[in-house]
Amino acid sequence: MAPDPACANFLTVNPLTVPTALLVTGHATPAVCVRHGQPAVFRLGVGIAKNWPFCARCRTRRWSLMAAAAAAAFGPFVVGFGLTTAFAADDTQARTYLQVTVFAVFVGLAVAGVIGLMNTPSALARAKTTPDKQWIIFQGSHPTFAAEMNRIIGPAPDTHQAAHIPPATESSEPTPT
Ligand SMILES: [Zn+2]
Repeated sequence: MAPDPACANFLTVNPLTVPTALLVTGHATPAVCVRHGQPAVFRLGVGIAKNWPFCARCRTRRWSLMAAAAAAAFGPFVVGFGLTTAFAADDTQARTYLQVTVFAVFVGLAVAGVIGLMNTPSALARAKTTPDKQWIIFQGSHPTFAAEMNRIIGPAPDTHQAAHIPPATESSEPTPT
C-alpha cells in the first residue's frame, strides 16, 4: 500500500487522525505525548492502542484527578462521621447526621465517578475512536507530536528504516590471522 499524498496531508491536520491499525501493531509509538509534545515518562493503553506515551504534565494531571476523586469519595465519609461523633448529642441526632452522611457519601462517589471518567487514558490523551474503529482521533494534538507521528506514519509500516540499527560490535570471524 503506497502512501497516498492526500492521505498523508489528512494526517497532518489538527485534530490528528491516526489509523488504528498502526496503533494496534505497535508500529506507531511516539516518544512524546499528544497533548503537550513533551517526552513520555509513562505509557498506558489508550483504547486499543498499546503503550501510549504520557509526559510529566499528563502524570501531574492524572495524579491530581486521582487525589480529587479520592477526596470526593472519602471526604464526606470522614467529615460526616467526624461531625457525628463530635456533635451528636443523642442517638436520634446521630441517626440524622448519619443519614446526611450517607447521602453525602453517595454524592461524593458520583463526583468521584465523573472525575474517574475524566481520568481515563483516553480522556487524558483526548483520544476518540471512530465508530467503525478504523481511526483514532486526537483532539488538539501538539505540533511536536503531530510532527513525530508524521515521521512515523511517513514510511511504509514494513520498512526497517531506523528501527533496527545494527549494533557496532565486531563481527565474529572464526578465521584467525
Ligand atoms: Zn502530556
